[in-house]
Amino acid sequence: MADIEPLRPKVKCPECKRESARQTYPFCSVRCKEVDLNRWLSGEYVIPGPQISDEDDYENVEYRPDVKD
Ligand SMILES: [Zn+2]
Repeated sequence: MADIEPLRPKVKCPECKRESARQTYPFCSVRCKEVDLNRWLSGEYVIPGPQISDEDDYENVEYRPDVKD
């Protein structure tokens, strides 16, 4: 009774939704872990904040369908 490994509740891999592995928790594999890391590094995850540029405002005005001249 000395060889019991601590168990964490299994979660689904954020990348592929398979069961996570203990070694790469909460991911199922090293590959998925790296995919997630690369996504962070490439800026695909955007932290919410006041970062609206003037260009975005201009585009929004252009797309309003109820504006007539
Ligand atoms: Zn995965």
